Amino acid sequence: MEPLELKQRLVAKALELGFDVCRVAPAITPPHAEAFLQWVAAGKAGEMTWLAKNAERRTDPQLVLPGARSVVMLAKGYGVAPGQTPEPEFQIAQYARGKDYHDVLTPRIRELETILAEYGGRQRSYVDTGPVLERDFAALAGIGWHGKSTMLISRELGAFFFLGAMLTTLELPADPPTKDRCGTCSRCIDVCPTAAITAPHQLDATRCVAYLTIELKGSIPEEFRPLIGNRIYGCDDCAAVCPWNRFAKASTEAQFSALPFNSSRPLREFLSLNDDTFRTLFRGSPIKRIKRRGFLRNVCVALGNTGSREDLAALIQAAQDPEPLIAEHALWAIQQLKVRYPEKSPRPEAPGD
Ligand code: SF4
Ligand code: SF4
Repeated sequence: MEPLELKQRLVAKALELGFDVCRVAPAITPPHAEAFLQWVAAGKAGEMTWLAKNAERRTDPQLVLPGARSVVMLAKGYGVAPGQTPEPEFQIAQYARGKDYHDVLTPRIRELETILAEYGGRQRSYVDTGPVLERDFAALAGIGWHGKSTMLISRELGAFFFLGAMLTTLELPADPPTKDRCGTCSRCIDVCPTAAITAPHQLDATRCVAYLTIELKGSIPEEFRPLIGNRIYGCDDCAAVCPWNRFAKASTEAQFSALPFNSSRPLREFLSLNDDTFRTLFRGSPIKRIKRRGFLRNVCVALGNTGSREDLAALIQAAQDPEPLIAEHALWAIQQLKVRYPEKSPRPEAPGD
């Protein structure tokens, strides 16, 4: 089969499997390889040590799949129409409200691999977890452009989409890149609550709420806690303000619909989760990754920022938690509430009382 014909078959199958876009980039050194190495060397990746560990592989597709000639890039939108998701008193990043996208998309990409295997190709695929600079290859393939937020932005999908990458030893016709359409807009930079986008296209991940609430395993630095607001898993602010979302269709993928834990409930209820009930509540969700200790840590911070007197009893209980990380953040939250709601001083005695 001719490479163009094979690519057409692959694209048709990708769309049939529910991907929104399937395009091809050449398996070259990614354009931001050097910038990525400098970013990691400058410590901007924080505790994401795996980025440094496999930095060389990330910047050379030949080290990931010897003989790689093409990178098939896949995009799947997960944006929702306004009002389509519950608006509880806490915020969870849109991508984490439904089933874990790794589990949803990986079997589909494996199915695509079998098509190329029929024609003698060797493949290696990843959904966000492999040593591949996915955004660079997606930009090379024309799925979108590097927004000032450092996220990839697509004309069709806006800012809310997942990427999958399939390296192959087959030569497939590459698609052209698309042009940068950020123009004079700077909404993502202006909206960031922690000033993590330090300049256009520059992210200090160690300041980003997504990093602080998901990737960071230990204590959240106190300077950032008040800025986290009621976000308990990730942050959507820079993506949500992007004007290119206007043109994006809402995702129809049932597996990305909000799971029951999103339903409206007092935030303090999460503090009563033990390891078992945590696992049950977040089964199938990416939130399970941060385990009870990380999740309750985040809940304490959000309660410290937005809670009321009614939350004090649950926080006092959490301050006794055998997990020191939770206890420490609960104590911090109690302090915040005490400052916000000082105990009423007793009424001074009137003369003659
Ligand atoms: S995800 Fe939130 S904290 Fe991180 S860069 Fe975007 S707006 Fe800033
Ligand atoms: S918000 Fe504006 S500057 Fe930021 S990525 Fe979107 S278009 Fe570009």
